[in-house]
Amino acid sequence: MAYEPIWTKEPEKLNKFEFVKLEKDGLDVIRTIIEEYAVKGYDSIPADDMDRFKWAGVYQQKPKDGHFMMRVRINTGIMTTEQARALAEISRLYGRDLVDVTTRQAIQFHWLRVENLPDIFERLDKVGLYSFEACGDCPRTIVGNPLAGIDKDELMDTTEIVEEVNRFFLLNRDFSNLPRKYKMSISANIYNNAQAEINDLAFTPAVKVIDGKETIGFHVMVGGGLSAKPHLAKPLDIFVRPEEVLKVAIGVTTIFRDYGYREKRHHARLKFLVADWGPEKFKEKLIELVGELESRGEDKTVGWQAAYFDGVHPQKQKGLNYIGLNVPVGRLNADELEQLADVADQYGEGKIRTTMSQNILISGIPDDKVEEALQAPVLQRLTPFPKHFMSRTVSCTGNEFCNLAIVETKRRAAEVAEYLDEHVELDEKVRIHFIGCPNACGQKHIADIGLQGSLIKTPEGMVDAFDIAVGGTLGGGANGPQAQFNQALKGRVKGDQVAYVLEQLLLFYKTNRNASESFHDFVRRVGVPAFQEQLNQILAAGIAS
Ligand code: SF4
Repeated sequence: MAYEPIWTKEPEKLNKFEFVKLEKDGLDVIRTIIEEYAVKGYDSIPADDMDRFKWAGVYQQKPKDGHFMMRVRINTGIMTTEQARALAEISRLYGRDLVDVTTRQAIQFHWLRVENLPDIFERLDKVGLYSFEACGDCPRTIVGNPLAGIDKDELMDTTEIVEEVNRFFLLNRDFSNLPRKYKMSISANIYNNAQAEINDLAFTPAVKVIDGKETIGFHVMVGGGLSAKPHLAKPLDIFVRPEEVLKVAIGVTTIFRDYGYREKRHHARLKFLVADWGPEKFKEKLIELVGELESRGEDKTVGWQAAYFDGVHPQKQKGLNYIGLNVPVGRLNADELEQLADVADQYGEGKIRTTMSQNILISGIPDDKVEEALQAPVLQRLTPFPKHFMSRTVSCTGNEFCNLAIVETKRRAAEVAEYLDEHVELDEKVRIHFIGCPNACGQKHIADIGLQGSLIKTPEGMVDAFDIAVGGTLGGGANGPQAQFNQALKGRVKGDQVAYVLEQLLLFYKTNRNASESFHDFVRRVGVPAFQEQLNQILAAGIAS
């Protein structure tokens, strides 16, 4: 460790997990897993090290009976087909065939056992993939533009910048003990493909005339994050040249490490420090650490496409295309991932790309091969032409595997999407996100309609229920939508009645919207109280109470 952990000077301001981290760095658990726990088995793992498993990218899954979930970093969402095949093989060998795409472009496995982990680490390492620090109080998967390098709408290819930042932070013991999880986003796409405002640190496309020359670079936002107290990241008055991204990332992460709050775990994310300091003080501190930076230039974000790409689209390379597939609620199986790798090799450039909407892209397909590629059997379920609601439904893991979950989510989300596709005809796509608890891994707050799991008392006992929120969006620059979290309606809906209630709310939108008015614009125009009134009426009718 090449720094002094200055927070230890005030031990009374440290929560008890801080002492666990000080006693043994989270990264040290990786070696212990390989040398000790994988040999001695699940029962040999003490509680403190079980908490440190997160630094290996591994959590206990529900119920705590010896099975684990693992998250694998896919930085900026781009992997080779060799890597995809290695992931498919791990899933087949150890993960009961399940492969989940997460809302941070990572790949998630379930059902792993501790004795499998050394082999899995090795298989990942062989193809240049890592689960390390995909969880834990450290810099996690760096999200980015999944179209980097092929995108007609990017100012520059950010692949190498993401790689550089990843190389610096991954397994770097100077930054493996942060106050809490830490999420970075780097994208030069003008449609905010990497959901900038919900990250701790985000680089967004910008230009500035410097010394008479137009320079492409980035603007910077800090302090975004979801969970029970969601915050939108705040812009700093700086312009960052591409070669300065790493320096700024180090500066911001150093501020979080050294000045972030460590007293209460629920008040430790960077967002709380940014809210207290404000962007000006934060910028001053950053400049003190990294030196002078240019002030803001011109923001180049012009809209938000919510990381959706279904269909066939031309790339910036003439004659080449990418196909955006729908992965229903982000779940596929090992065979499907392998078959996608076959399609990417046979027709494309040998790359598979994951999106923050839990979907997959295959890139580099020549014009004259597109039709043939579309006939691949695997693209019949993972279709580029999905039904309307299925295409825009996102779900977190839920209580199938997650220990924090209050309710089941993925199956419910898929059933609701299917129901809506059968019962509601709309020419506008409405984004629906399900989460199983306030932690918001399914990014409920940015959805047109967000559903957060909870329980409701019935004569038959407690049953799954959901709170509904409407009108969320992220930002699209000066002329696009302004980022806004959705707002909760009062009135909890039983799980088995969610589909019907959403149908009614969507019909209210369909009947009263102006021509081509988006759901978000409609919510803004009619107001949340109008939706509340609708929900009250549905609940009063006794259909969902
Ligand atoms: Fe688990 Fe809650 Fe995250 Fe869903 S939102 S995966 S229930 S922690």
